[in-house]
Amino acid sequence: MSARYSALTIVREGLRGHRGWPQAWRKPKPQRTYDFVVVGGGGHGLATAYYLAKTHGRRRVAVIEKGWIGGGNTGRNTTVVRSNYFYPESVALYDLALRLYEGLSSELNFNVMLSQRGILNVAHTPAQLEIAARLVNAMQINGVDAEFWGPDEIRKRLPLMTQSLNSRFLPNGGVWHPRGGTARHDAVAWGYARAADGLGVDIVEACEAIGFVIENAACVGVETTLGEIRAEAVGVAVAGHSSQLMAKAGVKLPIHSYALQAMVSEPLKPCLDIVLLHLGTGTYASQSDKGEIVFGGGLDRVPSYGQRGNPPMQEIVVSGLTEMFPAFGQLKLMRQWGGIVDFVPDSSPIIGPAPVPGLFLNCGWGTGGFKAIPAGGTLLAHLMATGAHHPISRPFDLDRFETGRLIDEAAGSGIAH
Ligand code: FAD
Repeated sequence: MSARYSALTIVREGLRGHRGWPQAWRKPKPQRTYDFVVVGGGGHGLATAYYLAKTHGRRRVAVIEKGWIGGGNTGRNTTVVRSNYFYPESVALYDLALRLYEGLSSELNFNVMLSQRGILNVAHTPAQLEIAARLVNAMQINGVDAEFWGPDEIRKRLPLMTQSLNSRFLPNGGVWHPRGGTARHDAVAWGYARAADGLGVDIVEACEAIGFVIENAACVGVETTLGEIRAEAVGVAVAGHSSQLMAKAGVKLPIHSYALQAMVSEPLKPCLDIVLLHLGTGTYASQSDKGEIVFGGGLDRVPSYGQRGNPPMQEIVVSGLTEMFPAFGQLKLMRQWGGIVDFVPDSSPIIGPAPVPGLFLNCGWGTGGFKAIPAGGTLLAHLMATGAHHPISRPFDLDRFETGRLIDEAAGSGIAH
Protein backbone atom coordinates (compact mmCIF):
# COMPACT_ATOMS: atom_id res chain seq x y z
CA MET A 1 0.00 0.00 0.00
CA SER A 2 1.57 3.28 -1.04
CA ALA A 3 1.26 6.29 1.26
CA ARG A 4 -0.49 9.07 -0.62
CA TYR A 5 0.74 11.97 1.50
CA SER A 6 4.12 12.53 3.10
CA ALA A 7 4.51 13.24 6.79
CA LEU A 8 5.62 16.77 5.79
CA THR A 9 2.32 17.40 3.99
CA ILE A 10 0.35 16.22 7.00
CA VAL A 11 2.29 18.54 9.35
CA ARG A 12 2.02 21.48 6.90
CA GLU A 13 -1.75 21.03 6.59
CA GLY A 14 -2.06 20.81 10.37
CA LEU A 15 -0.23 24.13 10.71
CA ARG A 16 -2.32 25.92 8.10
CA GLY A 17 -5.72 24.79 9.33
CA HIS A 18 -6.22 21.89 6.87
CA ARG A 19 -7.15 24.22 4.00
CA GLY A 20 -5.08 22.56 1.30
CA TRP A 21 -6.36 19.00 1.12
CA PRO A 22 -7.77 18.02 -2.28
CA GLN A 23 -11.31 16.64 -2.38
CA ALA A 24 -11.39 12.86 -2.12
CA TRP A 25 -13.75 12.69 -5.10
CA ARG A 26 -14.84 15.21 -7.72
CA LYS A 27 -18.26 16.88 -7.87
CA PRO A 28 -19.00 16.41 -11.59
CA LYS A 29 -22.11 17.54 -13.42
CA PRO A 30 -23.79 14.49 -14.94
CA GLN A 31 -23.14 13.81 -18.62
CA ARG A 32 -26.11 12.98 -20.85
CA THR A 33 -24.95 9.44 -21.59
CA TYR A 34 -22.86 6.81 -19.87
CA ASP A 35 -22.29 3.13 -20.49
CA PHE A 36 -23.63 2.36 -17.02
CA VAL A 37 -25.61 4.28 -14.43
CA VAL A 38 -25.89 2.98 -10.88
CA VAL A 39 -28.68 4.49 -8.80
CA GLY A 40 -27.82 4.76 -5.10
CA GLY A 41 -24.58 6.04 -3.57
CA GLY A 42 -24.50 3.62 -0.65
CA GLY A 43 -21.87 0.93 -0.27
CA HIS A 44 -23.43 -1.43 -2.82
CA GLY A 45 -23.84 1.24 -5.52
CA LEU A 46 -20.34 2.65 -5.03
CA ALA A 47 -18.76 -0.81 -4.94
CA THR A 48 -20.62 -1.74 -8.14
CA ALA A 49 -19.22 1.33 -9.91
CA TYR A 50 -15.73 0.62 -8.57
CA TYR A 51 -15.72 -3.00 -9.83
CA LEU A 52 -17.25 -1.99 -13.19
CA ALA A 53 -14.24 0.28 -13.66
CA LYS A 54 -11.57 -1.81 -11.95
CA THR A 55 -12.46 -5.39 -12.89
CA HIS A 56 -14.27 -4.84 -16.18
CA GLY A 57 -12.39 -1.76 -17.40
CA ARG A 58 -15.63 0.17 -17.99
CA ARG A 59 -14.88 3.80 -17.16
CA ARG A 60 -18.00 5.57 -18.51
CA VAL A 61 -19.90 4.95 -15.32
CA ALA A 62 -21.97 7.23 -13.07
CA VAL A 63 -23.38 6.76 -9.59
CA ILE A 64 -26.34 8.99 -8.86
CA GLU A 65 -27.30 9.64 -5.26
CA LYS A 66 -30.30 11.64 -4.12
CA GLY A 67 -28.57 12.84 -0.93
CA TRP A 68 -24.93 12.42 -0.03
CA ILE A 69 -22.90 9.27 -0.40
CA GLY A 70 -23.15 6.92 2.54
CA GLY A 71 -26.10 8.93 3.91
CA GLY A 72 -28.41 5.91 3.68
CA ASN A 73 -28.07 2.66 5.60
CA THR A 74 -24.37 2.36 4.85
CA GLY A 75 -23.73 5.28 7.21
CA ARG A 76 -26.38 4.17 9.73
CA ASN A 77 -25.52 0.59 10.48
CA THR A 78 -23.83 -1.03 13.44
CA THR A 79 -20.85 -2.09 11.30
CA VAL A 80 -20.95 -5.83 11.95
CA VAL A 81 -19.31 -8.06 9.33
CA ARG A 82 -19.59 -11.84 9.47
CA SER A 83 -20.13 -14.96 7.43
CA ASN A 84 -22.12 -17.22 9.80
CA TYR A 85 -24.79 -18.61 7.47
CA PHE A 86 -26.46 -21.96 7.01
CA TYR A 87 -27.10 -22.58 3.32
CA PRO A 88 -24.16 -23.12 0.92
CA GLU A 89 -25.52 -20.37 -1.37
CA SER A 90 -25.40 -17.83 1.47
CA VAL A 91 -22.00 -19.05 2.62
CA ALA A 92 -20.58 -18.55 -0.89
CA LEU A 93 -21.97 -15.01 -1.00
CA TYR A 94 -21.09 -13.78 2.49
CA ASP A 95 -17.73 -15.51 2.62
CA LEU A 96 -16.77 -13.85 -0.65
CA ALA A 97 -17.69 -10.55 1.01
CA LEU A 98 -15.64 -11.27 4.13
CA ARG A 99 -12.63 -12.37 2.10
CA LEU A 100 -12.84 -9.16 0.07
CA TYR A 101 -13.17 -7.14 3.31
CA GLU A 102 -9.99 -8.79 4.55
CA GLY A 103 -8.07 -7.17 1.68
CA LEU A 104 -10.15 -4.04 1.25
CA SER A 105 -7.97 -1.44 3.01
CA SER A 106 -5.12 -2.42 0.77
CA GLU A 107 -7.30 -2.72 -2.36
CA LEU A 108 -8.72 0.79 -1.89
CA ASN A 109 -5.66 2.33 -0.19
CA PHE A 110 -8.08 3.54 2.47
CA ASN A 111 -8.24 2.20 6.00
CA VAL A 112 -11.67 0.62 6.48
CA MET A 113 -10.68 -0.30 10.05
CA LEU A 114 -11.62 -3.97 9.78
CA SER A 115 -11.51 -5.44 13.27
CA GLN A 116 -11.93 -9.23 13.26
CA ARG A 117 -12.54 -9.51 16.97
CA GLY A 118 -14.92 -12.48 16.62
CA ILE A 119 -18.69 -12.88 16.98
CA LEU A 120 -20.55 -15.01 19.46
CA ASN A 121 -24.21 -16.00 18.97
CA VAL A 122 -25.38 -16.79 22.47
CA ALA A 123 -27.96 -19.55 23.09
CA HIS A 124 -30.03 -20.25 26.19
CA THR A 125 -32.89 -22.64 25.49
CA PRO A 126 -32.63 -26.20 24.14
CA ALA A 127 -34.14 -25.03 20.82
CA GLN A 128 -31.55 -22.24 20.48
CA LEU A 129 -28.76 -24.67 21.40
CA GLU A 130 -29.95 -27.02 18.70
CA ILE A 131 -29.95 -24.23 16.11
CA ALA A 132 -26.48 -23.23 17.32
CA ALA A 133 -25.09 -26.77 16.97
CA ARG A 134 -26.66 -27.15 13.52
CA LEU A 135 -25.20 -23.81 12.44
CA VAL A 136 -21.69 -24.74 13.61
CA ASN A 137 -21.92 -28.01 11.66
CA ALA A 138 -23.17 -26.26 8.53
CA MET A 139 -20.48 -23.57 8.71
CA GLN A 140 -17.73 -26.14 9.20
CA ILE A 141 -19.01 -28.30 6.33
CA ASN A 142 -19.03 -25.18 4.14
CA GLY A 143 -15.44 -24.32 5.12
CA VAL A 144 -16.23 -21.31 7.34
CA ASP A 145 -14.51 -20.93 10.71
CA ALA A 146 -16.88 -21.84 13.56
CA GLU A 147 -16.73 -23.43 16.99
CA PHE A 148 -19.37 -24.42 19.49
CA TRP A 149 -18.70 -22.84 22.90
CA GLY A 150 -20.10 -24.30 26.10
CA PRO A 151 -21.03 -22.26 29.18
CA ASP A 152 -17.52 -22.51 30.67
CA GLU A 153 -15.86 -20.97 27.63
CA ILE A 154 -18.47 -18.20 27.58
CA ARG A 155 -18.00 -17.54 31.29
CA LYS A 156 -14.24 -17.26 30.79
CA ARG A 157 -14.55 -14.90 27.83
CA LEU A 158 -17.47 -12.75 29.01
CA PRO A 159 -17.22 -12.29 32.76
CA LEU A 160 -19.29 -9.09 32.63
CA MET A 161 -22.17 -11.08 31.20
CA THR A 162 -21.99 -14.11 33.41
CA GLN A 163 -20.72 -12.96 36.79
CA SER A 164 -23.41 -10.50 37.72
CA LEU A 165 -25.45 -11.64 40.70
CA ASN A 166 -28.50 -10.14 39.02
CA SER A 167 -28.17 -12.23 35.85
CA ARG A 168 -31.16 -14.47 35.46
CA PHE A 169 -30.42 -15.24 31.85
CA LEU A 170 -27.12 -17.09 31.87
CA PRO A 171 -26.02 -18.55 28.51
CA ASN A 172 -25.74 -22.29 27.95
CA GLY A 173 -23.70 -22.25 24.76
CA GLY A 174 -22.98 -20.35 21.59
CA VAL A 175 -21.57 -20.19 18.06
CA TRP A 176 -18.12 -18.63 17.92
CA HIS A 177 -17.12 -17.16 14.54
CA PRO A 178 -13.56 -15.81 14.93
CA ARG A 179 -13.33 -14.01 11.55
CA GLY A 180 -16.42 -11.89 12.20
CA GLY A 181 -16.13 -8.41 13.64
CA THR A 182 -16.66 -4.83 12.56
CA ALA A 183 -15.47 -2.38 9.91
CA ARG A 184 -15.82 1.40 9.80
CA HIS A 185 -19.01 2.05 7.78
CA ASP A 186 -18.23 5.58 6.51
CA ALA A 187 -14.74 4.50 5.50
CA VAL A 188 -16.18 1.74 3.32
CA ALA A 189 -18.36 4.25 1.42
CA TRP A 190 -15.62 6.87 1.24
CA GLY A 191 -12.95 4.35 0.25
CA TYR A 192 -15.02 2.97 -2.63
CA ALA A 193 -16.02 6.50 -3.69
CA ARG A 194 -12.46 7.78 -3.78
CA ALA A 195 -11.16 4.71 -5.59
CA ALA A 196 -14.01 4.74 -8.14
CA ASP A 197 -13.52 8.45 -8.76
CA GLY A 198 -9.83 7.79 -9.31
CA LEU A 199 -10.79 5.37 -12.09
CA GLY A 200 -12.97 8.00 -13.78
CA VAL A 201 -16.39 7.16 -12.34
CA ASP A 202 -18.67 10.22 -11.95
CA ILE A 203 -20.27 10.34 -8.51
CA VAL A 204 -23.20 12.73 -8.73
CA GLU A 205 -24.70 13.66 -5.36
CA ALA A 206 -27.99 15.55 -4.85
CA CYS A 207 -29.39 13.85 -7.97
CA GLU A 208 -32.52 11.77 -7.47
CA ALA A 209 -33.79 9.11 -9.89
CA ILE A 210 -37.45 9.93 -10.40
CA GLY A 211 -38.22 7.44 -13.18
CA PHE A 212 -36.73 5.36 -15.96
CA VAL A 213 -36.42 5.97 -19.68
CA ILE A 214 -38.18 2.98 -21.26
CA GLU A 215 -38.06 2.46 -25.05
CA ASN A 216 -39.30 -0.65 -26.85
CA ALA A 217 -40.01 -2.20 -23.44
CA ALA A 218 -36.33 -1.87 -22.40
CA CYS A 219 -34.66 0.52 -19.97
CA VAL A 220 -32.29 2.90 -21.75
CA GLY A 221 -31.71 5.43 -19.01
CA VAL A 222 -32.85 7.24 -15.89
CA GLU A 223 -34.98 10.32 -15.41
CA THR A 224 -33.39 12.39 -12.68
CA THR A 225 -33.88 15.70 -10.94
CA LEU A 226 -30.89 16.89 -13.03
CA GLY A 227 -32.41 15.69 -16.32
CA GLU A 228 -32.42 12.53 -18.37
CA ILE A 229 -29.30 10.34 -18.32
CA ARG A 230 -29.10 7.55 -20.89
CA ALA A 231 -27.15 4.34 -20.40
CA GLU A 232 -26.59 0.87 -21.81
CA ALA A 233 -27.59 -0.61 -18.46
CA VAL A 234 -28.93 0.76 -15.19
CA GLY A 235 -28.25 -0.79 -11.79
CA VAL A 236 -30.52 -0.06 -8.84
CA ALA A 237 -29.03 -0.29 -5.32
CA VAL A 238 -31.33 1.83 -3.17
CA ALA A 239 -31.98 -0.52 -0.21
CA GLY A 240 -35.22 0.37 1.63
CA HIS A 241 -36.50 2.41 -1.31
CA SER A 242 -36.16 -0.34 -3.93
CA SER A 243 -39.86 -1.18 -4.20
CA GLN A 244 -40.84 2.52 -4.48
CA LEU A 245 -38.29 3.18 -7.23
CA MET A 246 -38.88 -0.05 -9.16
CA ALA A 247 -42.62 0.66 -9.19
CA LYS A 248 -41.71 3.53 -11.56
CA ALA A 249 -40.56 0.90 -14.06
CA GLY A 250 -43.78 -1.06 -13.47
CA VAL A 251 -41.97 -3.73 -11.43
CA LYS A 252 -43.48 -5.03 -8.18
CA LEU A 253 -40.83 -6.46 -5.86
CA PRO A 254 -41.47 -8.93 -2.99
CA ILE A 255 -40.12 -6.37 -0.53
CA HIS A 256 -41.58 -4.67 2.52
CA SER A 257 -39.73 -1.75 4.06
CA TYR A 258 -39.27 -1.33 7.80
CA ALA A 259 -37.30 0.95 10.10
CA LEU A 260 -34.36 -0.70 11.81
CA GLN A 261 -32.98 1.16 14.81
CA ALA A 262 -29.68 1.25 16.65
CA MET A 263 -28.30 3.07 19.69
CA VAL A 264 -25.03 4.01 21.36
CA SER A 265 -24.25 4.55 25.01
CA GLU A 266 -21.85 6.94 26.65
CA PRO A 267 -18.21 5.79 26.29
CA LEU A 268 -16.89 3.19 28.75
CA LYS A 269 -13.47 1.76 29.44
CA PRO A 270 -12.86 -1.38 27.33
CA CYS A 271 -15.20 -4.10 28.64
CA LEU A 272 -16.58 -5.95 25.61
CA ASP A 273 -13.95 -7.16 23.17
CA ILE A 274 -16.13 -9.29 20.88
CA VAL A 275 -19.41 -8.82 19.01
CA LEU A 276 -22.29 -10.51 20.75
CA LEU A 277 -25.65 -11.59 19.37
CA HIS A 278 -28.32 -12.90 21.68
CA LEU A 279 -30.44 -15.50 19.87
CA GLY A 280 -33.24 -15.18 22.44
CA THR A 281 -33.96 -11.47 22.21
CA GLY A 282 -32.24 -10.60 18.90
CA THR A 283 -30.24 -7.88 20.67
CA TYR A 284 -26.62 -7.58 19.59
CA ALA A 285 -23.80 -5.37 20.88
CA SER A 286 -20.20 -4.39 20.39
CA GLN A 287 -17.94 -1.71 21.82
CA SER A 288 -16.66 1.00 19.50
CA ASP A 289 -13.10 2.31 19.44
CA LYS A 290 -14.41 5.36 21.33
CA GLY A 291 -15.76 3.08 24.07
CA GLU A 292 -19.46 3.41 23.29
CA ILE A 293 -21.64 0.30 23.47
CA VAL A 294 -23.18 0.08 19.98
CA PHE A 295 -26.30 -2.05 19.94
CA GLY A 296 -29.45 -2.90 18.07
CA GLY A 297 -31.99 -5.66 17.56
CA GLY A 298 -34.94 -6.55 15.39
CA LEU A 299 -36.99 -4.55 12.93
CA ASP A 300 -39.79 -2.25 13.94
CA ARG A 301 -42.97 -4.31 13.69
CA VAL A 302 -44.91 -2.18 11.20
CA PRO A 303 -43.76 -1.48 7.62
CA SER A 304 -42.90 2.21 7.35
CA TYR A 305 -40.69 4.80 5.69
CA GLY A 306 -40.49 6.79 8.95
CA GLN A 307 -36.76 6.75 9.55
CA ARG A 308 -36.96 7.80 13.21
CA GLY A 309 -38.16 4.39 14.41
CA ASN A 310 -40.60 3.61 17.20
CA PRO A 311 -40.17 3.54 21.00
CA PRO A 312 -41.70 0.04 21.61
CA MET A 313 -38.85 -1.60 19.68
CA GLN A 314 -36.27 0.55 21.49
CA GLU A 315 -37.65 -0.77 24.75
CA ILE A 316 -37.33 -4.39 23.59
CA VAL A 317 -33.75 -3.85 22.42
CA VAL A 318 -32.69 -2.05 25.59
CA SER A 319 -34.22 -4.75 27.78
CA GLY A 320 -32.41 -7.41 25.71
CA LEU A 321 -29.12 -5.62 26.45
CA THR A 322 -29.77 -5.31 30.18
CA GLU A 323 -30.89 -8.96 30.37
CA MET A 324 -27.44 -9.88 29.06
CA PHE A 325 -25.48 -7.25 30.98
CA PRO A 326 -27.36 -6.09 34.07
CA ALA A 327 -24.48 -3.67 34.79
CA PHE A 328 -25.33 -1.78 31.58
CA GLY A 329 -28.62 -0.73 33.19
CA GLN A 330 -26.71 2.25 34.58
CA LEU A 331 -25.51 3.47 31.18
CA LYS A 332 -26.72 6.68 29.63
CA LEU A 333 -27.80 6.40 26.01
CA MET A 334 -26.25 9.09 23.83
CA ARG A 335 -27.98 8.60 20.49
CA GLN A 336 -30.60 6.53 18.73
CA TRP A 337 -31.26 6.46 14.98
CA GLY A 338 -32.90 4.34 12.31
CA GLY A 339 -32.69 3.46 8.65
CA ILE A 340 -35.21 1.98 6.22
CA VAL A 341 -34.34 -1.58 5.28
CA ASP A 342 -35.72 -3.79 2.51
CA PHE A 343 -37.10 -7.03 3.82
CA VAL A 344 -37.63 -10.07 1.55
CA PRO A 345 -39.79 -13.08 2.58
CA ASP A 346 -36.86 -15.54 2.64
CA SER A 347 -34.42 -13.08 4.27
CA SER A 348 -31.96 -13.28 1.40
CA PRO A 349 -30.93 -10.57 -1.05
CA ILE A 350 -32.07 -10.13 -4.62
CA ILE A 351 -29.29 -9.80 -7.20
CA GLY A 352 -30.23 -10.17 -10.83
CA PRO A 353 -31.89 -8.69 -13.88
CA ALA A 354 -35.22 -6.93 -13.36
CA PRO A 355 -38.15 -8.00 -15.55
CA VAL A 356 -37.40 -4.93 -17.73
CA PRO A 357 -34.33 -5.54 -19.98
CA GLY A 358 -31.48 -3.14 -19.24
CA LEU A 359 -32.38 -2.83 -15.54
CA PHE A 360 -30.50 -4.75 -12.83
CA LEU A 361 -31.23 -5.18 -9.13
CA ASN A 362 -29.18 -5.29 -5.96
CA CYS A 363 -31.56 -5.14 -2.98
CA GLY A 364 -33.26 -7.11 -0.23
CA TRP A 365 -30.27 -7.02 2.12
CA GLY A 366 -32.55 -6.15 4.99
CA THR A 367 -30.74 -5.83 8.29
CA GLY A 368 -27.44 -7.24 7.06
CA GLY A 369 -26.17 -5.77 3.81
CA PHE A 370 -23.21 -3.81 5.15
CA LYS A 371 -21.19 -7.00 5.55
CA ALA A 372 -22.01 -7.93 1.96
CA ILE A 373 -20.95 -4.69 0.25
CA PRO A 374 -17.78 -5.93 -1.51
CA ALA A 375 -19.61 -9.03 -2.79
CA GLY A 376 -22.80 -7.15 -3.74
CA GLY A 377 -20.71 -4.71 -5.79
CA THR A 378 -18.62 -7.45 -7.40
CA LEU A 379 -21.70 -9.45 -8.42
CA LEU A 380 -23.82 -6.56 -9.72
CA ALA A 381 -20.85 -5.25 -11.70
CA HIS A 382 -20.37 -8.71 -13.21
CA LEU A 383 -24.03 -8.90 -14.15
CA MET A 384 -24.12 -5.43 -15.70
CA ALA A 385 -20.83 -5.79 -17.57
CA THR A 386 -21.39 -9.30 -18.94
CA GLY A 387 -25.19 -9.54 -18.98
CA ALA A 388 -24.91 -12.90 -17.20
CA HIS A 389 -24.95 -14.03 -13.58
CA HIS A 390 -21.78 -14.83 -11.70
CA PRO A 391 -22.32 -18.38 -10.31
CA ILE A 392 -22.52 -16.94 -6.77
CA SER A 393 -25.36 -14.52 -7.59
CA ARG A 394 -27.41 -17.01 -9.66
CA PRO A 395 -29.37 -18.47 -6.69
CA PHE A 396 -30.31 -14.94 -5.57
CA ASP A 397 -32.15 -14.07 -8.79
CA LEU A 398 -35.68 -12.68 -8.55
CA ASP A 399 -36.92 -15.83 -10.30
CA ARG A 400 -36.63 -17.80 -7.03
CA PHE A 401 -40.00 -16.36 -6.03
CA GLU A 402 -41.50 -18.08 -9.09
CA THR A 403 -39.60 -21.36 -8.84
CA GLY A 404 -39.95 -21.61 -5.05
CA ARG A 405 -36.19 -22.17 -4.59
CA LEU A 406 -36.08 -19.87 -1.57
CA ILE A 407 -32.99 -19.48 0.62
CA ASP A 408 -34.58 -19.00 4.01
CA GLU A 409 -31.76 -17.99 6.32
CA ALA A 410 -34.09 -16.90 9.14
CA ALA A 411 -35.18 -20.53 9.40
CA GLY A 412 -31.72 -21.94 8.62
CA SER A 413 -29.36 -19.97 10.85
CA GLY A 414 -31.82 -18.28 13.18
CA ILE A 415 -30.58 -14.89 11.97
CA ALA A 416 -32.89 -12.93 9.75
CA HIS A 417 -30.15 -11.47 7.52
P1 FAD B 1 -27.81 2.42 1.32
O1 FAD B 1 -26.53 2.62 2.04
O2 FAD B 1 -29.07 2.77 2.02
O3 FAD B 1 -27.68 3.22 -0.03
C1 FAD B 1 -28.77 3.44 -0.88
C2 FAD B 1 -28.69 4.87 -1.34
O4 FAD B 1 -29.67 5.06 -2.34
C3 FAD B 1 -28.99 5.87 -0.23
O5 FAD B 1 -27.84 6.68 -0.04
C4 FAD B 1 -30.18 6.66 -0.76
O6 FAD B 1 -30.13 8.03 -0.45
C5 FAD B 1 -30.09 6.41 -2.26
N1 FAD B 1 -31.36 6.52 -2.96
C6 FAD B 1 -32.58 6.04 -2.59
N2 FAD B 1 -33.49 6.34 -3.53
C7 FAD B 1 -32.84 7.02 -4.50
C8 FAD B 1 -33.26 7.60 -5.73
N3 FAD B 1 -34.52 7.54 -6.14
N4 FAD B 1 -32.33 8.24 -6.48
C9 FAD B 1 -31.03 8.30 -6.08
N5 FAD B 1 -30.59 7.78 -4.93
C10 FAD B 1 -31.49 7.14 -4.16
N6 FAD B 1 -25.76 -4.60 7.96
C11 FAD B 1 -24.70 -5.36 8.36
O7 FAD B 1 -24.16 -6.12 7.57
N7 FAD B 1 -24.22 -5.26 9.63
C12 FAD B 1 -24.80 -4.47 10.57
O8 FAD B 1 -24.33 -4.40 11.71
C13 FAD B 1 -25.95 -3.72 10.19
N8 FAD B 1 -26.58 -2.95 11.10
C14 FAD B 1 -27.60 -2.13 10.71
C15 FAD B 1 -28.15 -1.26 11.64
C16 FAD B 1 -29.12 -0.33 11.24
C17 FAD B 1 -29.70 0.60 12.24
C18 FAD B 1 -29.52 -0.29 9.88
C19 FAD B 1 -30.54 0.70 9.42
C20 FAD B 1 -29.01 -1.18 8.95
C21 FAD B 1 -28.04 -2.11 9.35
N9 FAD B 1 -27.45 -3.00 8.45
C22 FAD B 1 -26.39 -3.79 8.84
C23 FAD B 1 -27.95 -3.09 7.06
C24 FAD B 1 -27.05 -2.33 6.13
O9 FAD B 1 -26.79 -1.04 6.64
C25 FAD B 1 -27.66 -2.24 4.75
O10 FAD B 1 -28.12 -3.51 4.32
C26 FAD B 1 -26.63 -1.72 3.74
O11 FAD B 1 -26.01 -0.55 4.20
C27 FAD B 1 -27.31 -1.47 2.41
O12 FAD B 1 -26.40 -0.80 1.59
P2 FAD B 1 -26.93 -0.14 0.26
O13 FAD B 1 -25.77 0.46 -0.42
O14 FAD B 1 -27.76 -1.14 -0.47
O15 FAD B 1 -27.98 0.94 0.78
